[in-house]
Amino acid sequence: MTGDVVRLSGVSKNYPGEVSALRCVDLEVGRGELLAVVGPSGSGKSTMLHIIGTLDRPSAGTVLVDGHDVARLSDRQLSTLRARRIGFVFQRFHLAAELSAVDNVADGLLYAGVGRRDRRRRAEIALDRVGLRQRLSHRPHQLSGGERQRVAIARAIVGEPALLLADEPTGNLDTDSGARVLAILRELNEAGTTVVVITHDREIAERLPRRVFMRDGRVM
Ligand code: ADP
Repeated sequence: MTGDVVRLSGVSKNYPGEVSALRCVDLEVGRGELLAVVGPSGSGKSTMLHIIGTLDRPSAGTVLVDGHDVARLSDRQLSTLRARRIGFVFQRFHLAAELSAVDNVADGLLYAGVGRRDRRRRAEIALDRVGLRQRLSHRPHQLSGGERQRVAIARAIVGEPALLLADEPTGNLDTDSGARVLAILRELNEAGTTVVVITHDREIAERLPRRVFMRDGRVM
């Protein structure tokens, strides 16, 4: 498929108390791009990522994701789009403590209409892709921070999303683990996934092919 994976036109987001988290943002992300979103704390990066990921709706403007005008989709259609086309990685991993790595990853397919056995098989493949084939039955507390984040990445990509959104994925990691996570994001991108990464880390941002700078709710 060609065309943009993401197109924001005149997107604003206001929160109660006259907080303008986004002010008339235009952004296009082409298929196969790998880009960093950088900017000071409070500049609107997470808000923008949530809106791109259809976790939140804008106060004004248009959001196209994978060719769909998000405002025209019902909640159900939106959930399907999210489950099948978008993967999320967060700074704090968000893994289920009581589940093994493979079950955490398999749960990434719960809403994608995939049978149980197939979920598990695909989870094993995804864990292999992030270098964790030897950790299938470990639970999160038995894994290092970097390994937990790799499990979270495996969960995000197990459904083979067109778009992977990562909010400070290296924010809780030491330098080496962060570099490993970044290398995995690059590999996924080379294999065809469009990747948008929010980062505070200048070194990381400088190593990515495109950077989008935000300040005061605007894309500079
Ligand atoms: P960043 O990710 O760049 O740190 P955010 O997108 O988290 O910035 O926040 C942008 C602005 O919106 C900040 O002023 C923040 O306090 C405000 N904000 C974010 N989320 C909410 C919310 N749920 N309710 C009210 N204000 C919010």
